[in-house]
Amino acid sequence: MPTLVFLEDHEGELVKGSLGVLSKAAQLGGDVAAVVVGSEVKQLAAEAGRFGASTVYVADDPALAAPLPQPRVDVLAGLVRAHGFDTVLFGASVLSADVAAGLAARLGAGLNWDLVDLELRDGRLVGRRPALQDSVYVDVGWKGEPRLALVRSGTFEPAESGGDATLEDVTVELEDFSAQAVMLERAHAESEGPSIEDADVIVAGGRGLGEPDKFALLEDLASALGGAVAATRAVVDAGWYPYASQVGQTGKTVAPKLYVACGISGAIQHKVGMQASGTIVAINKDPNAPIFEYSDLAVVGDVHEIVPKLTELVRERKGS
Ligand SMILES: Cc1cc2nc3c(=O)[nH]c(=O)nc-3n(C[C@H](O)[C@H](O)[C@H](O)COP(=O)(O)OP(=O)(O)OC[C@H]3O[C@@H](n4cnc5c(N)ncnc54)[C@H](O)[C@@H]3O)c2cc1C
Repeated sequence: MPTLVFLEDHEGELVKGSLGVLSKAAQLGGDVAAVVVGSEVKQLAAEAGRFGASTVYVADDPALAAPLPQPRVDVLAGLVRAHGFDTVLFGASVLSADVAAGLAARLGAGLNWDLVDLELRDGRLVGRRPALQDSVYVDVGWKGEPRLALVRSGTFEPAESGGDATLEDVTVELEDFSAQAVMLERAHAESEGPSIEDADVIVAGGRGLGEPDKFALLEDLASALGGAVAATRAVVDAGWYPYASQVGQTGKTVAPKLYVACGISGAIQHKVGMQASGTIVAINKDPNAPIFEYSDLAVVGDVHEIVPKLTELVRERKGS
């Protein structure tokens, strides 16, 4: 099963989700290659060997500097055609989802989306996908090759398996239409600390905070814990916190080691985005809040009193 894994990079680092997918592919066995596409990304490519790639293809060209999907589709389609990869795997992100969809259209290939597991059954690749608001899992397969799969973010942890990869430069030849889109501007919210996809600790806030300014309490706690701040859709829709931090059915799926839910009722649409967290701590003044049904630790009380005390305690413990 010659497999190609698309490795995404962001601000000089390979994205954790795509390294997790590479590690999983390596565990499944077979010949696993990876591809890094961008400008000045060669030094990143070498890292992929540690996560199980035997070969890393490097498409390094100034024309690939902007994170646009079509030029990446050109590179991946060329590799699949030249080397006969029968499987191409992606870790979910906005860019990877576009590249995977574009590659499926370009190659006439089947793409299974939102997978939370991959296994080999009698030598055949089988994906696992949540359905009906994550209440059941279904096994999915592919009718033909190449098989394309997009894995839900936070599903696989990167695991170093040692080893050096052979680096191979790819000659970048872009289709005319791929160069039509140009990136005029990139804007990103300034934030310190890890993103919610990468964080080991997430402090999440909901309507129980009462007003947008109270997110500062969560930012203090997250900073003391070295984590990131997330939000429910209710507060994102109200404009209290950016959409990039929304967890749930129409937001991101996260799986940190610790998830601290503050003033969040625990609606099913929120639960599906965070239920895979290692330990869930919920603070809610309503002892019957649904979130307590799936929390490891339930704290009944007012977030405005508890969160600052918790931050203070964490700081004291850490001596900072
Ligand atoms: C199609 C669809 C998709 C959706 N997608 C998402 C999604 O991706 N993510 C998501 O989060 N939601 C999503 N929702 C919305 C979801 O159904 C809930 O409405 C939302 O999660 C509720 O947000 P909340 O917990 O912040 O607010 P609420 O449900 O209003 O809960 C607030 C909680 O705060 C507690 N509280 C109040 N004051 C305090 C205090 N001082 N101290 C402690 N606790 C306090 C209350 O007891 C309550 O439990 C979706 C809904 C639909 C229909």
